[in-house]
Amino acid sequence: SITLHDVIVIGAGAAGLMCAASAGQRGRSVLVIDHGKRPGRKILISGGGRCNFTNYDVTANNYLSQNPHFCKSALSQYTNWDFLGLVAKYNIPFHEREHGQLFCDDSAKDIVNLLTNECEETGNVQYKYQSEIISVERIDDNAFEVKTTQGTFKCESLVIATGGLSMPRLGATPFGWKIAEQFGLAVIPPQAALVPFTLDGREKGLTELTGTALPVRISCNNKEFLEALLFTHRGISGPSVLQISSYWNPGDSVTVDWLPETNALEFLEKAIAKNPIQELKTALSKLLPKRLVEYFIELNVFENKPLRQFNKKQIEDIALNLHNWKIKPNGTEGYRTAEATLGGVDTNELSSKTMECKSIKGLYFVGECMDVTGWLGGYNFQWAWSSGWVAGQNV
Ligand code: FAD
Repeated sequence: SITLHDVIVIGAGAAGLMCAASAGQRGRSVLVIDHGKRPGRKILISGGGRCNFTNYDVTANNYLSQNPHFCKSALSQYTNWDFLGLVAKYNIPFHEREHGQLFCDDSAKDIVNLLTNECEETGNVQYKYQSEIISVERIDDNAFEVKTTQGTFKCESLVIATGGLSMPRLGATPFGWKIAEQFGLAVIPPQAALVPFTLDGREKGLTELTGTALPVRISCNNKEFLEALLFTHRGISGPSVLQISSYWNPGDSVTVDWLPETNALEFLEKAIAKNPIQELKTALSKLLPKRLVEYFIELNVFENKPLRQFNKKQIEDIALNLHNWKIKPNGTEGYRTAEATLGGVDTNELSSKTMECKSIKGLYFVGECMDVTGWLGGYNFQWAWSSGWVAGQNV
């Protein structure tokens, strides 16, 4: 027997659950299907278990896409304030961290409960977990048929909310892009985003600083971020690196300003005037981790000797190197540790107002499986809420 629903949502993640609640509120009967055991698995581990669920300041500038305007409509139809309204409705305690990032005080579970409660409240949402999708077919102008390991279902509107490829161990699959290809829709080649860099060659020495973090300004392809950099045993990470990784392409160098808040030249000139017999290493170690200074000395970027033995040009070069240090990553840690996926279903195929495919009536894509990727800071969840909600209003 084939069960009929108004709407089938494939993927019980952030975008899929929001879409189901939004559609259920309009009286649409919704079936949510997921191959996992439970809803919102990525939400549960997000933000170190506290879920950075949105940001006080959300604009299209916080997103990457081949079409930077695409996200605007959904972000204005369902805003960060709308989501904060829900957070207030459920009395979820939260706090602000730097750059307007909003986190749960207690647990990311609060956000999953919020979403499942919103679905329950409508009385119109059903779930099928641990269901593998066998096939998706368009059976006539107004219907899709979804065959799963737990039965065959029919619907008028089909929403694909299966996310990107990050964290394969949490059930990430390229399902959304396979469906796009099946229906002849273009897909922008996916790439790991918000991901640590790996280093080799002369840069391998930096991994000796594993565990050390410091604020830097990092830039690549005309984007820059001023945030912490963390040395790891494989390379570099931390918020600044994750952010810039979304703008990086294999082969690119990134530029690191190790002293974003200090004028290195002025600092060195003052140090020379004050204590000319002090060694360079001693002087710089007041500003930077000593091991980092030693790394530069080992690389012969500069010699360690008393400050008075450097001429003006040499001091200028040292300052320049500290403000403009090039690092050429040999790669990223990939989807295993990435927080997001660049690329996905080409937004040209979709209506920015409804997330429906322009060429296939009733087929919708929401969340991370499409070519909209947010910065670190709650922007990816906000995109899931906004795109999921608008689709739910139109299915
Ligand atoms: P998902 O939430 O990934 O949901 C997709 C769902 O589809 C899953 O339930 C999956 O099981 C299901 N699925 C996949 N393939 C199939 C299939 N073939 N058949 C059936 N079901 C399938 N973003 C933030 O904004 N703030 C944060 O703090 C944050 N922290 C993060 C931390 C980590 C470690 C990671 C990996 C990501 C983090 N993100 C964060 C990004 C955020 O989690 C995602 O952008 C967001 O979950 C995307 O929502 P989605 O609904 O599109 O996909």
